[in-house]
Amino acid sequence: MFAVVDKARRLVPKTDAVLADPRLAAAERLLGRTLVKDAVHRAQQRAREGVIEPSAVCDEAVAELPELAASLTPVLNATGVLLHTNLGRAPLSAAAVQAVGAAAGYTDLEFDLTTGSRGKRGAAMLAALGRAVPDAQAVHVVNNNAAALVLTATALAAGKEIVLSRGEMIEIGAGFRLPELLASTGATIREVGSTNRTTVADYAAAIGPRTGFLLKVHPSNYLIQGFTASAGIAELAELGVPVVGDIGSGLLAPHPVLPAEPDAATWLKAGAALVTASGDKLLGGPQAGLLFGKADLIGALATHPLARALRVDKLTAAALEATLLGPPPPVLMALASDKDVLMERARRLASTLAGGGVDAVAVWSQAAAGGGGAPGVALASAAVSLPAEFAKPLRASRPAVIGRVGDGRLLLDLYAIDQADDEALGAAVLAVAMPPCR
Ligand SMILES: *Cc1c(COP(=O)(O)O)cnc(C)c1O
Repeated sequence: MFAVVDKARRLVPKTDAVLADPRLAAAERLLGRTLVKDAVHRAQQRAREGVIEPSAVCDEAVAELPELAASLTPVLNATGVLLHTNLGRAPLSAAAVQAVGAAAGYTDLEFDLTTGSRGKRGAAMLAALGRAVPDAQAVHVVNNNAAALVLTATALAAGKEIVLSRGEMIEIGAGFRLPELLASTGATIREVGSTNRTTVADYAAAIGPRTGFLLKVHPSNYLIQGFTASAGIAELAELGVPVVGDIGSGLLAPHPVLPAEPDAATWLKAGAALVTASGDKLLGGPQAGLLFGKADLIGALATHPLARALRVDKLTAAALEATLLGPPPPVLMALASDKDVLMERARRLASTLAGGGVDAVAVWSQAAAGGGGAPGVALASAAVSLPAEFAKPLRASRPAVIGRVGDGRLLLDLYAIDQADDEALGAAVLAVAMPPCR
């Protein structure tokens, strides 16, 4: 046995010889030397271990090549959670993807093609955002909503106080807590009220010469129910200090499917001086922090030195503009979905799978908007139910398929799946049920 392995080791072709294979040379131009070499080394290792013949190293290395130079893997999101932070939140619209591709090279991000001189960075993106929210005197865009809040706190409340209800001191995920984020800017959090009840009088009593602004945060990932009270934007706006509202989700206007979810236009109309939101939640765009509000405040934020550290790149500018001006992005299409249509799709998929011998049935399901908004709102949906054993091999599919496991079954919820992907979803399940011979 050892002798055989030793012989195989001697016969394993050298790296340079393998790299000279025309297929690998071509791959190197696309993927770069590091990734191709990694594939070659894996193939050589398998030959040394006697798993493959030394003569098969080139073919094996070709089979080992990654498809792209980046390893983020496309996922079919069958979790029923529309905005899943672990799965990259909102999928971009086709229009946004195209815009990103077009902006990827040299582009007129900060250049005026008419005059040939320097232009305002991201002017088209800002114009699109302003047009989408006419109630905002001005708008600004930063890297994410956390950055929008940090910029606001730094510019308007460093060395001062931010008045915040104890019911709105939220943890946004992965251990990041908004009050700690805000305090990191040098502002002091002035907590008011209690977890379940905070009144306008609580805010009013906390206002003084050190007040920077009042902050209203939408509890986007939890609910406080029962004996509760909270102050509205309109009443707070009458207290004579700026009210900043963090709506979280990024709805620009009210949405009929999510009536309890706050939106930028409504909070601005109610008197908020500034509203902040994410770009990659219910807006359905790229990761971004959106700022809407009074011209003087937005001006102060946009020209603050910190703004330079939080500005977005050309890819975000392109994707955000296309999300705002182009056809509705996948997130909004999903929110408009009809449960009977979803059930019809689930039945069709289940019957195809059953025809392939898979124990698959269509079932009603409840989807959710996700950490991005609308906590506690069940969205009527449909799913294909499979034995739970499918979960692991489906994660290994490409694209990977991620469902939801419960009661010994794997549910593939169709709420966040584009209908155009139903066939790929079915094919992935069939491939797991009947692996092709190797
Ligand atoms: C998601 C969320 C944030 C954080 O937004 P990011 O864009 O992820 O930085 C802040 N506040 C609220 C209310 C949120 O829902």
